[in-house]
Amino acid sequence: MVREWTDDQRVEARERAIKQGLGRKGEITEAPSAEAMLLAKAQGTPPQQTTEELSAVIDKETMGGDRGTIDHTKPGLVRVYKPTAYGFKPRRIPVTNLAQALKGGFLPHCPDCNPRGIDGEDCGDGINDCPAREKRAYRVCPIPQCGKQIYDYQQDIAGEQDEDAMRIDDDAYMQATPALRTKSVLDKHMLSLHPNEAAAAGIVAPSLRAVERRVPDVSAV
Ligand SMILES: [Zn+2]
Ligand SMILES: [Zn+2]
Repeated sequence: MVREWTDDQRVEARERAIKQGLGRKGEITEAPSAEAMLLAKAQGTPPQQTTEELSAVIDKETMGGDRGTIDHTKPGLVRVYKPTAYGFKPRRIPVTNLAQALKGGFLPHCPDCNPRGIDGEDCGDGINDCPAREKRAYRVCPIPQCGKQIYDYQQDIAGEQDEDAMRIDDDAYMQATPALRTKSVLDKHMLSLHPNEAAAAGIVAPSLRAVERRVPDVSAV
């Protein structure tokens, strides 16, 4: 005897099949990847709207007595993790760049503290905000308007003690500490971005330092 299906039973059976992982043709339906889910979600990211006073763009003479505003529309931003020398760092990028960024190695979630890719479980925006990563030493640029944080670019690799008689260990580089490394990066930052303050603080470019040393000390004569 052929079973008579009501419409409701058919819907129910279909839903049960989908829940068990069976698609239309009986193949197993794959769960969407984190990348695909982010791309789908990004479609709904609202664009950024900003309004600018016309007077800020056109000078008063041209404008005369006209008043008005201009609306700007930029694509909305999505948060992704960019591969950097410091590991994966969170960035906000325009939705329109998302597909390309994911192809280029950006990840939708932090691979260190959120490897399962659960929405809302990612770490904060700072380099030291990830609970799964070793913390890095850093300095802060002393110029108040700048305040750039300069993180140690190197992490000390512990436990790597390869005993090779032919390997030369150079003491000059071994002595570099997080404090010295960040100081040299901050000095470079000061010289290029705040040359006046750098001069006042007595920071000299490494090439000049060598020249200075060669100049005989006249005060001693
Ligand atoms: Zn993390
Ligand atoms: Zn600075």
